[in-house]
Amino acid sequence: MLKCNEVVERADELVDGTPLSFRQRWALRLHLMMCHHCRRYVRQLRLLVQSLRRNPEPASEEEVDQVMRQIEQSEST
Ligand SMILES: [Zn+2]
Repeated sequence: MLKCNEVVERADELVDGTPLSFRQRWALRLHLMMCHHCRRYVRQLRLLVQSLRRNPEPASEEEVDQVMRQIEQSEST
């Protein structure tokens, strides 16, 4: 069983679409099914990556902050 910090470390790869082995992907999915915290983390990261990809210019810190605030707002409703 993966620990939360291991999931968080690999979340980038998961969101980037980096090919993971079947075993790794399975372990991540199993953890995400059972862990609300990591599920939320992966979802936020995915939203962040998507919004950055839409913008061809490198995002400024301000833009990243803005996206994170939007995510936080959508989480709290
Ligand atoms: Zn977790």
